[in-house]
Amino acid sequence: MQKEMDFSVYLKTTPDKNGYFGRYGGAYVPPQLVDEFKKIETAYHTICKSTKFIHELRRIRKEFQGRPTPVCHCERLSNSIGNCQIYLKREDLNHTGAHKLNHCMGEGLLAKFLGKKKIIAETGAGQHGVALATAAAYFGLECDIYMGEVDIAKQAPNVARMRLLGARVIPVTHGLKTLKEAVDAAFEAYLNEYEHAIYCIGSVVGPHPFPMMVRDFQAVVGVEARQQFLDMTGELPDAVVACVGGGSNAAGIMSAFLNDPVELYGVEPLGLGTKLGQHAASLTYGSEGIMHGFNSIMLKDENGKPAPVYSIASGLDYPSSGPEHAYWKELGRVKYVTANDEEAIHAFSTLSRMEGIIPALESAHAVAYAMKLAREMGTGSILVNLSGRGDKDMDYVIEKYGEKLGIK
Ligand SMILES: *Cc1c(COP(=O)(O)O)cnc(C)c1O
Repeated sequence: MQKEMDFSVYLKTTPDKNGYFGRYGGAYVPPQLVDEFKKIETAYHTICKSTKFIHELRRIRKEFQGRPTPVCHCERLSNSIGNCQIYLKREDLNHTGAHKLNHCMGEGLLAKFLGKKKIIAETGAGQHGVALATAAAYFGLECDIYMGEVDIAKQAPNVARMRLLGARVIPVTHGLKTLKEAVDAAFEAYLNEYEHAIYCIGSVVGPHPFPMMVRDFQAVVGVEARQQFLDMTGELPDAVVACVGGGSNAAGIMSAFLNDPVELYGVEPLGLGTKLGQHAASLTYGSEGIMHGFNSIMLKDENGKPAPVYSIASGLDYPSSGPEHAYWKELGRVKYVTANDEEAIHAFSTLSRMEGIIPALESAHAVAYAMKLAREMGTGSILVNLSGRGDKDMDYVIEKYGEKLGIK
């Protein structure tokens, strides 16, 4: 497609002023929220050009989050495959163990600037809830996290973490009592409370300006990694690989390489197979549609509604992806590929054994694809965004794969 497109000014010109990445994105919000979303956008444009805000965010990243996170060379893993060298950007070493805090701290700072007292969100497995509760505690904001009753029962340690951090975890008891109902409940609460609260979205999804803001807050990952890789090797990687759920960690690392001669790969979860319901590879198998306030590529059921999705990695099981990824796919700038549950589990144990790094199951999808790509490329280098650590997944892996992996 249009590989020739000029990406040198891309980040300053995209999305357009209505929040569109090409045909994707926009802000499909109820009429009473239109002004509020404009206010959020104006506030963001003000603070992201203000040195006071930039210095504060930099200080937080350094002192509180422990940034910059390192890039590390996986020598044993690479040599076991061949000559192509695999490197990891270690977002697992970011405070709270994943990249999500990068945008939650930005959203917290924005909430303070807007004079809000409370931040509201939903959570499925609890990862976004914990990161946001952490930001709320740091900034002294109230925090309401909506969570399905079924998920509350399944994710006891994350529920306890959120409560320990001072958040209110509000059980959602209707319908299937999982993420979808929690999204609706959180949004309904926000409609009643937007004057003193802000709804914090957990990825590069939702109505404009969230896909842009979350990308920009995550861009620190790419900016750091690009320079670190140059310092370490004297050149850029040949390929960059990241897993894609909503797409925030991928957008964060890829945004720094758009204008470089570097191949970009977004890895979607293929779960148990290619049939609808068995996976969450929305960009690979979906079609254009509007959900949760934005136009993108989504997996639909027979009624055109968001389809049920599945992945072993609960952070990846979302029936759509951010509008910017739909645009990058259309432009041909990023290739979207897949890894299934089995490949992710294999990468999870291989990285642990060969490098002493237990990856999150989400990140293991990126590692799995990078291992495959290294074999195909034969030579060169690959930089993987290791979005998080795998401690949160241990109980599940022991129960389901313990015998197979020889750890039980
Ligand atoms: C939530 C999560 C993801 C998926 O979110 P994106 O917005 O696609 O990055 C990936 N990795 C980890 C560790 C997560 O917690």
